[in-house]
Amino acid sequence: MNLPIRQYFRLLSTYLRPQRGKVIFLTLCLFTGIAMQLVAPQVVRQFIDQAQQGSPAAALSRIAFLFLGVTLVSQIVHILSAYLTENVKWQATNLLRNDLADHTLHLDMAFHNENTPGTMIERIDGDITELSNFFSQFILKIMGNALLLTGVLVLLYQEDWRVGVVFTVFALVMMLSLGLTVSLGVRFWEGQREALSEQFGFIEEVLGGTEDIRANGGVPYVMNQMRRHIYQVFLATRKAFLVGNLTWGSSNVFFGISGALALGLGFYLYSQGQATLGTIYLLLHYSNTLQRPLEQLARQLQDLQAATASINRIQELFDIRPKVQEHPAAIPLPGGPQAVSFQGVTFSYEADKPILRDLSFHLPAGKVMGLLGRTGSGKTTITRLLFRFHDPDQGAVCLNERDLRQVKLEDLRQAVGMVTQEVQLFQASVRDNLTFFDPSVPDEKIIEAMEILGLGEWFRSMPDGLDTKLAAGGRGLSAGEAQLLAFTRVFLKDPGLIIMDEASSRLDPVTEQLIERAIDRLLHNRTAIIVAHRLATVQRADDILILDEGEVLEYGDRVALLADPDSRFSELLRTGMEQVLV
Ligand code: ATP
Ligand code: MG
Repeated sequence: MNLPIRQYFRLLSTYLRPQRGKVIFLTLCLFTGIAMQLVAPQVVRQFIDQAQQGSPAAALSRIAFLFLGVTLVSQIVHILSAYLTENVKWQATNLLRNDLADHTLHLDMAFHNENTPGTMIERIDGDITELSNFFSQFILKIMGNALLLTGVLVLLYQEDWRVGVVFTVFALVMMLSLGLTVSLGVRFWEGQREALSEQFGFIEEVLGGTEDIRANGGVPYVMNQMRRHIYQVFLATRKAFLVGNLTWGSSNVFFGISGALALGLGFYLYSQGQATLGTIYLLLHYSNTLQRPLEQLARQLQDLQAATASINRIQELFDIRPKVQEHPAAIPLPGGPQAVSFQGVTFSYEADKPILRDLSFHLPAGKVMGLLGRTGSGKTTITRLLFRFHDPDQGAVCLNERDLRQVKLEDLRQAVGMVTQEVQLFQASVRDNLTFFDPSVPDEKIIEAMEILGLGEWFRSMPDGLDTKLAAGGRGLSAGEAQLLAFTRVFLKDPGLIIMDEASSRLDPVTEQLIERAIDRLLHNRTAIIVAHRLATVQRADDILILDEGEVLEYGDRVALLADPDSRFSELLRTGMEQVLV
């Protein structure tokens, strides 16, 4: 069996250390429970034998009360361990969930492009749920059951060495055969988890696109796919359970054998006059007790199959390192307007398919650049490089003459503000939506920003002011309001460079005016790169860059380009921008 023991211990020690006290108490409870299991039949044996010998009722009732006491302690310990177990396992797994979520949030965009949110949910929550037993009970149960097993065997030897030998051999044979069947299962459990995460990925995708799917008549196809996924999960689970139950079935056979052994041996000893009726009871009870640790050990091993599969997948995820990492000696990036330069940047998402080719331009601090180009020419890609969601394959992207790979990531994210085509709003209060859940931003500042950007009137119509809850995805807001909210958000962040991937949706003239004024305020004293779709936006640019298949077709001062009748830009304006700007 190839079990990554070191990984188990690392996980256990990392996530159980914070609750050391509880784990120790849980251990005590489990061990007391085991002791009670060993003691109880001894008491009953005493009772049977003494009753047979005609002991006085007082002595018998003392034993009966003792038995009652043992049972009571057993129950209390049982309840306590159940409570502690739940506690320990939830705390440990939640810590792990936290760490894993934190880790994945720091992974590259490339990773998130490949892994749908549904898959991530299953990997972060589902896989870890499989580990709950592993954290709370695994080691304890293994230890406890080994102890119980040893205890029972020792007590059996005490009764008669022959009985001891027979049951020792029996236990060994049973353990070996269970161990063999258990190792078969790991692979199948891994397959089951894989199928599950694919199913969740699919569901997430479908739910995200419900409208499109319905509008385009894709429902039957989706249902078909859904059935296929469910069937795959079914097949994988059935396989895993069948193999798991092989272990189970074989241990059941052993149980039958052990009962027969106890009765046979007991009867033999009794007929030889070497045992009392009480001893026969004791043997039968211990052979039963013996089954429990063996069965539990088998069950723990079965859980271990599932846990190992999950641990492997979790470890895999932890081992993925972001390609974009902060330089160990990262330098700070001063705030204020940023000068942007691309120096011979070549970049591709997939090998051998360059999206940007030897791209160079320099935008001085405080200037506004209009970025034009056909769809798919690489405009959004440029903005992603500026955020360092990806690093260029060749060349360098610089802010204020500093290579982005050299600067602190935190400074970079602070220095660049983005207004995307689609505004992401959370199901949270207006305040949290604007400050990104940063409670340190004072209310007056938020309200002032909204006034400046033309949201004042909208804000005053909110029933609960800043505490008004917005719906997820910005439902109930007009496209213009959503845009203005996005502006306010960036305004509050106060970055030195603003990237605006302009919404191509048409707005009514009044809203358009509002937006124009807001952009004026937003861009004041900042550098900006605007992926422009509207003539009005193009006209506010100082510089124009026309991109074509990842290369600079033309770059220059807007007024100069306009004055030159041979420039691509003036040609564009003459023939109509629509071809390029949509
Ligand atoms: P649009 O005007 O439609 O927004 P764009 O100029 O912003 O287009 P980009 O989004 O930069 O274009 O895409 C440029 C090219 O890169 C496209 O061919 C696109 O297919 C490809 N591309 C974009 N994102 C990815 C990605 N995450 N993985 C692989 N290829 C991508
Ligand atoms: Mg784009």
